[in-house]
Amino acid sequence: GMQPGAVLPLDQVQMTELLAETTLRGNSRLEAALFAHADSVTRKFFGDDVYYRGIVEFSNVCQNDCGYCGIRKHQHDVHRYTMAEEEVVEVARWAFTNRMGTLMLQSGELPTQKRLEYLQRVVAACREATVAQDIEQRGLDPKAVGAAEREAMGLRIALSVGELPRAHYQALYDAGARRYLLRIETSNPELYHALHPSSMSWEHRIECLEALRDVGFQVGTGVMVGLPGQTLCDLAADVAFFKQFGANMIGMGPYITEPNTPVAEMWQALHGHIDKKEHMNAMLHLTTRVNALARVTIGGVNITATTALQAIDPNGREIALRRGANVLMPILTPTKYRENYQLYEGKPCITDTADECRKCLNARVSMIGKRAKMGAWGDPPNFVAP
Ligand code: SAM
Repeated sequence: GMQPGAVLPLDQVQMTELLAETTLRGNSRLEAALFAHADSVTRKFFGDDVYYRGIVEFSNVCQNDCGYCGIRKHQHDVHRYTMAEEEVVEVARWAFTNRMGTLMLQSGELPTQKRLEYLQRVVAACREATVAQDIEQRGLDPKAVGAAEREAMGLRIALSVGELPRAHYQALYDAGARRYLLRIETSNPELYHALHPSSMSWEHRIECLEALRDVGFQVGTGVMVGLPGQTLCDLAADVAFFKQFGANMIGMGPYITEPNTPVAEMWQALHGHIDKKEHMNAMLHLTTRVNALARVTIGGVNITATTALQAIDPNGREIALRRGANVLMPILTPTKYRENYQLYEGKPCITDTADECRKCLNARVSMIGKRAKMGAWGDPPNFVAP
């Protein structure tokens, strides 16, 4: 007798057991119960609503060498770009007109003063431009709109630009950014260190997540599922980590091999003999099981149906929305830049325009009987403003 919508206090051992039962022993009745309960918890907190975060991948310049990533510093044959400031602001205006609610600015990592100043200007300009649109739309007199009212207008700006000094995080908050996405990638420090160069550390990633929260950001984090060497125990620990850290948004996607990267070689050595199609199907199921587990154990948190899910299954994102996810991230990056932001093989929507992505996702949402909550910022119930 499980109460529909009830958040379940499963501990790490129970979560590992549930993943083992559904993944290794193929208990499909238990899996169906998990997915159904995840959907009931999602509906309790969000009804039929799906929140959008438009994403613009404004630069692929990166100083890091994450072993799995297609835009890592030493990846060859990647044409590096950084969008002009006005180009990003143009995307922000489009996003406001099309009622995206939130605009997420994502890029490779570049912790320089010059990049900080670029970002401060871009964040402030995106806020200013969309608040002005909002004021005009409502027919208000700009001079009569106070600071508190402005804060509640225009687009929410989210950043996903990696590890930075705390002072940079503070400066970007002061410029008007209110959300930040930084995946821990895996909650297992040993696995993290095996997948990254020695110049990067899991401990530093944790420090950054804590600094972001202290500064006052709504903090999103997440992991990749199916990394070489990752166990079901690690995935259960990932969910426990999201809960314990108090993440406001969770983004989990399957790990997808990108040719000519060290981690793809590790993956090949471990799994090269298995059928790729079968593996992708297994990854879709495993990723959505972990998503569902996060939903039933954490409750009122935003969970993204990630783009990488669609790379492994044409309906991957809709499937996730029925198994605990409540957020979609339409890609708004101008088409000409998309082919240079290939994080992994088969990244979808590479030749599409922002308008096509918006229409396509709207259609997908209505097909599963949910509705896009356009224009909403979509704060999760578990976020308490500082
Ligand atoms: N540099 C910023 C950071 O690390 O937070 C943001 C950009 S980074 C490219 C965004 C995310 O891409 C990473 O957090 C990682 O999880 C994901 N990613 C990179 N390579 C991937 C792969 N081969 N398969 C799946 N996801 C990948």
